[in-house]
Amino acid sequence: MFKDTTVIKTIQMQCGQAYVVQLADGSLIELGDVYLPNENKLGTRPYRYRDFGNISDKNKRVITLCTMVGCSMKCKFCSVRQTFKRLLTAEDIVNEVEFCLEEGKKYGRSSDPMESKEFNVLYTRMGEPTANITNVITSIQELVRRWPHVKIGMSTTAPSVRVYDFLKYPDIAKHIMMQFSVHGTDEDMRSGLFMAPTGKVLMGLPEIAKFAKDFRKLNPRMISLNFILFQGFNYDFKRLREIFDVEDVYLRLSPLNATENSVSFGLRGLIREEDVDQKAPISSQELKDIIQQIEECGFSYAFAPAIDEEITYKAACGQALEMLKADQLKTFGEMS
Ligand code: SF4
Repeated sequence: MFKDTTVIKTIQMQCGQAYVVQLADGSLIELGDVYLPNENKLGTRPYRYRDFGNISDKNKRVITLCTMVGCSMKCKFCSVRQTFKRLLTAEDIVNEVEFCLEEGKKYGRSSDPMESKEFNVLYTRMGEPTANITNVITSIQELVRRWPHVKIGMSTTAPSVRVYDFLKYPDIAKHIMMQFSVHGTDEDMRSGLFMAPTGKVLMGLPEIAKFAKDFRKLNPRMISLNFILFQGFNYDFKRLREIFDVEDVYLRLSPLNATENSVSFGLRGLIREEDVDQKAPISSQELKDIIQQIEECGFSYAFAPAIDEEITYKAACGQALEMLKADQLKTFGEMS
């Protein structure tokens, strides 16, 4: 457990908690600990947590954690862009998991993830994991040692070839669900979103395609290409199809969690709240056309799950801290 940790805010949700936590050096990080349905079938419409009735820690437990305090990257849509303070150590990262297990007991949660059919730890909140690769790998080794059934979600913008380090560790690679936050179907689109010079800083799409092939020799699970879909972007999935083998990757489509930065850059998400309803018609022709294009290209795809309360309280990745700083982060009790 962290020493001298203070819980600054807890968002209590139907499916778990999100926390803003202050570390001993005064740094703030945010964490999530939710339970979700095991289902996340490819090709289905997005689902809301409430569509699935009674589920618990015994199904799938999902902890989301940080790898840095702040972040050095410049992603236009993210609230923590260019706020880097320090790397989290491997011990810090493991302690984030320990913290969630311990703190969850206050809310009737199990402290033993071995009781869950599936236990996922997602390296998806603050920080670009491959920019802290040594600590990230050491922390995964420790998590696997403690909980051999753990699955690790690794979400990277692929800023450098340090991603290839994962190929050197077959024992942990088989636990890792790789997700590349590509967000664009060509290098200019990606570079614009990440504010990185085209072809200079980010791994190119062909390099990611090659990585996917190599990684799948260690872990046959398909690699996820993550897309926050934005309004008015000229997506060309046919081009993407020329680069990627559809056997190696699937597309994960997400709504935009609006932040001050995304608003100031004029970014608007294409997936709207009503699209998260299985039964509602797709909200726009633009989104319909994109889905049709993806299907025609033969890509498998899935929508990122939407947690109702996370949307309501703006507690999704990056938002919790931003809302806290703006003094607008409300808990369940304060909202009702
Ligand atoms: S999206 Fe991830 S990599 Fe980009 S600035 Fe935010 S935390 Fe950093």
